[in-house]
This record gives sequence, C-alpha cells and structure tokens, in this order.
Amino acid sequence: MLDFTVRQHLRGRSTIPTPFLHPFASPSADRFVTIVRGEGAGVFDADGRRYVDALASLWYCNVGHGRREVIEAMTRQLGTLEAFHTFERFTNEPAEQLAATLSELAPMPDARVFLVDSGSEAVDSAIKLARLTHALDGQPDRTLIVSRRHGYHGVTLGGTSAQGLPANRELFGPLLPRVEIEHDDLAHAEAVLAEHGDRVALVIAEPVIAAGGVRPPPPGYLPGLRRLCDEHGALLCLDEVVCGFGRLGAWWGADVYDVVPDLVTFAKGVTSGYAPLGGVLVGTAIRARLEADPEFVLRHGHTYSGHPTVCAAALAALDITRSEALLERARLVGDRLAAGLLEAVDGERVVGVRGEGALRAVALGPGADAPTVREHMLEQGVIPRAIGDDTIAFCPPLVIEDADLERCVEAFASATAPDVRVG
Ligand code: PLP
Repeated sequence: MLDFTVRQHLRGRSTIPTPFLHPFASPSADRFVTIVRGEGAGVFDADGRRYVDALASLWYCNVGHGRREVIEAMTRQLGTLEAFHTFERFTNEPAEQLAATLSELAPMPDARVFLVDSGSEAVDSAIKLARLTHALDGQPDRTLIVSRRHGYHGVTLGGTSAQGLPANRELFGPLLPRVEIEHDDLAHAEAVLAEHGDRVALVIAEPVIAAGGVRPPPPGYLPGLRRLCDEHGALLCLDEVVCGFGRLGAWWGADVYDVVPDLVTFAKGVTSGYAPLGGVLVGTAIRARLEADPEFVLRHGHTYSGHPTVCAAALAALDITRSEALLERARLVGDRLAAGLLEAVDGERVVGVRGEGALRAVALGPGADAPTVREHMLEQGVIPRAIGDDTIAFCPPLVIEDADLERCVEAFASATAPDVRVG
C-alpha cells in the first residue's frame, strides 16, 4: 500500500514537494499529472482521463504504448538471461543481433555500433570517439566541439557542452571547449571552421533541431557541413536521437537530407522507450583508427552497454516499425498534422507551422505564452510540448489514428481561439 502522502502526490493534491526531485522542473513544484497507463497513442491519468500523447512521451514512443510484441520479447529475454555485461570477452545474442540490424540500416557503409543507455551518453561517446580517433591519428589537440545555436544534445557534461540552449548551460561551471555556429547559416559555419578548423574534433548537428524548437535545416546546410568537415579534417556527427527510426519519414535524417555522416548518435525511438537505450553508429574513418592496432583497448563503455533485455526491446520495436510501414505512416501523419495546424495560422496569434515528417511545431505570435496554450490543451486531453514562449511542438506516436490527430488540431485551435487568453 502507498502511504497517504504518496497517494496525495500521485493525485496532484499535495502541497508538500514530493521526494522525487523531478528532471527539468522547478524543485519547488508540487503539482504533477500522474500517468498510470498507456495504449497506442493514448495515456491515462490517475483519475482515468485519457490524453492524446502528442509528443510520443518525450519524442520517443514511435510504436505506441502497450505493445504486446515488445513486452513479450522483453519478457522472453528476462526469462532466459535478464542481463549480463559485454565488457572484454563477453557478448550476448540480442546485442549482436541489434548491432547487425542497425549496421544494416545505418546511413553510412560498414558501420559498427556502440551501445549505451541514453541519448546524452551517446553524445558523450561520440565526442570521446572523435577525440580518440584524432589522438590515434597524431592530432591530440583536436578536441573542440562545433555545434549549432538552438541544438540540443543532452545533459551529461559533454552533452551540456555541445548543446546550444544557453539556459541549460548556466551555473554548471566549466564545460568542454566548444564553438557555436548559427543553426541556419552555412556561411557562419564556414567562417568558424576557417578560424578553428585545425582544432575541431567534431561538428555535431541534429538533422532537424527538435527540443530547441523544431527547426529543419535550410536546403544545402547539412551537405555543406559535410563538405566543411572534409575540408578541415573534422568528423561529422548527426545527432539522430529524435530524427532516427522513421520520425522524418525515412530511417534517418541523414537519408532525408542526403548526407553521409562519420558518426550517428541515436536513442529514444530505437526502443520506443520500452527500455532505455542509446548508441553511436561508428563509420569507417573512425573504425579504421580504432581497429588499426590489435593491442589498442577502447577504454569506454557502460555497465549496461548491450543489455540483452534492452536490446530485445529494440529488436521488437524495429520489427514493428518495419512490419507496420511506420516510415510511410510518418509522412502521412506529418502531412495531416501540418495541414490541420496551418488552418489555425492567422498571422497574429499563430504565425506559422514548421517541421518535417511527423515532427512539427507551431510558432505563436508576439506576446503569447506557450505554457498557457499547453495548459489549455491539457484540459482538452492533448499533451503537446511547449518550447520557450512561442512554440508548441508535436511529435506523436507514428501509430496515431486520424481521429487522435484531429483531436490534436482541434485542441490547438481552441487553445488559441480569439476568446482565449494565450499570454
Ligand atoms: N540528443 C537529442 C537530439 C535529444 O533530443 C536528446 C533528448 O531529448 C538527447 C540527445 C539526450 O537524450 P537523453 O535525454 O536520452 O539523455
């Protein structure tokens, strides 16, 4: 039995802060929506109220909630071998199978797969692998990270250093050396690489910036970064933590924007969130260095790298992505969502819709307060994400049905209707 205070917290009725110190929340916040169950594109709160999960939880639940196939695959694996590490001489079948599957899907030839537990760890691993590659190549001073304004790359010290959202960097002390480039201006990247090129370890970029406001790249921007990396001897890492696994209507943002990266970081959609998993696809430039000396040991990895139950979840989620043609579905979902949201654009309260595939956002006009709009939408049973003051983001499960897409559009339209206070 839960004690009384915990029950009050779970019902959002306590005024004492809960012992659970929530991530990305005010530590003095005392009201939370307790989600107790999920099914498809819907989740239910402690009072039994259904919400459309319009952000696939936190940009990850591509195959939808409550999928028996994933649950059964994990249960089978738990009953055979719940966990065993993969350091040194040990391996397991799900990890090997997942690596082979991901290598096959990778947007670069002959990739190997490094497995971790989250997107942030994937970013840290990519930074370390890039630095290591340069060091083995006789260039130990190539340590600089180049990344985009508005980019988000997680919260470990490496991820915090790499990301371009100033509020997330404040008060954490010295970070890794990094130079920022404009997210939409290749000429700026060109100037930065001209100045710092011989010290750059990697350029890291999300294909579509997600958490930093849902911002697709201008035409030619990502191929331009590829060219600059080649010219200056830097490695290109695409952070596909949100964009990968069908979100943009292809397996990778790299495919959508026609870029061959050296490294790809992934997480989220790889398991659709049934278990925490991240990783790095490692291309041939890095492989060649790592594999050159048989005496060399890669001194990097996590206790749960290649956790068999987690890998079983990923294999099952990827099977669903394939068998239910969710890449095609992502395009359809995105088109329908964008068409519906565009109808709300009035040039004042709602000024535009942007995005790619099933990753979309609406830009609110001056004076708006996106969290207020989000609250109105919550009241109507839809959970989008408010980003800053002026953006409402949508990234629904790819299995979302048309009726639920319609609910997202209606909830947004009524939350921004002329008689509703949005600021
Ligand atoms: N990279 C990108 C592009 C992300 O969107 C995120 C999380 O939202 C991360 C990295 C960090 O992933 P995690 O929260 O799993 O550490």
